[in-house]
Amino acid sequence: MSNRVAVIGAGMTKFVRRAKETPGELAAQAVQMALADAGLTIDDIDAVCLGTAPDAFDGVHMNGEHLIAGAGAVGKPYLRHFVGGGTGVFSPIHGWMHVASGKYKTCLVVAEEKMSPCVPHPAGAFLTIFDHTTEQPLELTLLHIFGIEMCRFMHIYGYSERDLAEISVLCKGNALHHPAAQVAEKITVKDVLSSPVLSWPVKRRDISPTSDGAVAIVLCNERVARTHSKAPVFIDGVGFRLETAYWCTRDLAYPNYVAMAAQDAYAMAGITKPDTEIDIYEPYDPFNYKALHHMNALLLDKSGRKVRELFDAGAFARDGSHPICPSGGALGVGNPIAATGLMKIAELYFQLSGQAGKRQVAKSAHRGVAQAWGDLMQVGTVVVMSSEGALPSGHGRWGAMTAKDLPATPLKQVQDVPHIAYKPDLRYSYDNGYALTSYLEGFKQGALRGSRCTGCGRIMIPPRSFCELCNLQPVHDYCELPDTGTVQTYTLSHVNWDSSPLPRGRVDVFAVIAIDGAAPEMGLVHRLGEVSAKDVKIGMKVRAVWKDAKDREGSVLDIKYFRPLGTRERNLRTVKPIKPAEIDAASAKSFPGRIPMEYLYTAGLGGSRFYADLAKGRLSGTWCSHCEAVHVPPTAFCEFGMVLLDVDKQARAVNVASGVVLSFTEVHEDRSGHLLDAPVVVAQVGYPGTVGSLFGVLELRKGQAAQVGAAVELVPTGKKVGPEHVKFRLKAARRK
Ligand SMILES: [Zn+2]
Ligand SMILES: [Zn+2]
Repeated sequence: MSNRVAVIGAGMTKFVRRAKETPGELAAQAVQMALADAGLTIDDIDAVCLGTAPDAFDGVHMNGEHLIAGAGAVGKPYLRHFVGGGTGVFSPIHGWMHVASGKYKTCLVVAEEKMSPCVPHPAGAFLTIFDHTTEQPLELTLLHIFGIEMCRFMHIYGYSERDLAEISVLCKGNALHHPAAQVAEKITVKDVLSSPVLSWPVKRRDISPTSDGAVAIVLCNERVARTHSKAPVFIDGVGFRLETAYWCTRDLAYPNYVAMAAQDAYAMAGITKPDTEIDIYEPYDPFNYKALHHMNALLLDKSGRKVRELFDAGAFARDGSHPICPSGGALGVGNPIAATGLMKIAELYFQLSGQAGKRQVAKSAHRGVAQAWGDLMQVGTVVVMSSEGALPSGHGRWGAMTAKDLPATPLKQVQDVPHIAYKPDLRYSYDNGYALTSYLEGFKQGALRGSRCTGCGRIMIPPRSFCELCNLQPVHDYCELPDTGTVQTYTLSHVNWDSSPLPRGRVDVFAVIAIDGAAPEMGLVHRLGEVSAKDVKIGMKVRAVWKDAKDREGSVLDIKYFRPLGTRERNLRTVKPIKPAEIDAASAKSFPGRIPMEYLYTAGLGGSRFYADLAKGRLSGTWCSHCEAVHVPPTAFCEFGMVLLDVDKQARAVNVASGVVLSFTEVHEDRSGHLLDAPVVVAQVGYPGTVGSLFGVLELRKGQAAQVGAAVELVPTGKKVGPEHVKFRLKAARRK
């Protein structure tokens, strides 16, 4: 029997398109609020867990480690978790494990996302989530995969674009009363339908925005909850399930993995009829159709009838019988991926403890469910929460909270503040192994190849060397497949992988094609050609159009596209076993890869002060009453006491000539790992009587050598921003 776990406090920043704060500063602001809400200090926290989505957004490798200070986890048991877009609702599950196990009495749960450093658009980072060998060469992005899933969902469940637009109207309207909201607006169905088409059926207002933001909650065991909170909200059930990354090999219309996660959570919570036993729903809604797509699974109804009835009856409104996304959801509040899921958990805490203010649902609510989803249509995370009764209205700090009360500084553009540009030049050579190498070799020869599992009998494409359904048994049988198939679903794209518009008049059609001869629904994603966008249909038969033999090089791009199969045309090819000897794969072929991302990092509140001083040849630190010392460099929060600091009001001048080398190293590589023309000495420099240190380049004249303990002074470098412009030289007195 596990211990009961409660939420007793929450904090969050505003969700904004671009924040001046660094990721750590955003996290610290949310943490400080959550601690205050719970009436605790960081010393009362036993463990910390952190959720943040792919490092490619923040552009910070090992982002979890980087965020330790902002998460208040210095010196504590700490772990980062990551399940793509499902992360934010996994965050409280991770924290729940810590407390339910009895290992810790309290756990701080933090979710942060800063997507804005990724330029020209964070959507470009999604290129990196697709398979590097079989999918990335097609230059797919998130809009494409969502368009493909939305098309299938509409086809199977009979929703129109007009129907789905109503979800955007609902969520963006609900968000008008959310203090963190980024894109709250009162709009009509017509506004959604007339917004620009990005990748049909996806239009601008069908989608949540990209955002920066952070959310934190405090979890504790029942004993702490009863003594520290007037209205604890308990976590009654948790579930998380994942599907394989082969997203082209399952029907995208119904998210089975969400239904399985919900079943796990309901079993724990003792729920057998979710549509009558749950009062509030916070399904993940990065796109409007996703809210309904997930609701089918949360009501465990693959037929979709219940959700359709509720939708038609207007039951999803805040004053309806089954309110969904009373917060305003990702569509209205914003979507800093991991933070969004935790925002939904915080909304259940507010609603169930009676602190939702103008967002409070009309019905008397005792139980709610929050859910998130992510990655390649493969992750479902579900949490059920309940309260024993809400606070009387007007009590609690959150009811009257407005945008003015929440931190985060929105920017028009990153260039308006001190910032650092970085263009990583990372190159990869992917080793494809036997199965994929034989697949690519097939492309070179103008044929599609699959492999057959003797256990379940499935013919799989792309071929796999093991079967994930049959105890991971090895798969040895390979075959050639027809190069024809059936369109399962598709999208009509007007944008490139990085969200930039295609040239006027051009439409790229991407489709999931179930290949003839392979197991049902087993297919691949590719382009369609020789067909006008309006004639593309689900169920259409298509055939591969190959490049000339001399131009084929063993890549998925050896197929130019798939074209409609003529009515009189027949599938001439059949499934033909190939003997292993015919597969020319003595050595696994590697595949070149490059991730074309660029970043613009804000220097943050602390960094802005640091570089402003540096431009004047000065150095300041920040006085901290918790440490009773000056932090160097300037910082907007104290990582030891998790108190917020004002880098201007609490600034203290530090003598630029009082530095002491604490340690140094000779660097031979640049940030991307390429050799430098000449080595550079980088030193860690401390200042007497302060907490912290600076890193910078130690400029040495001929005959000078670096030494621990050497006295150094800062070199004025002007208005330049970036770590490479922090420079020191040995003090004159030492140069003898
Ligand atoms: Zn099998
Ligand atoms: Zn301090």
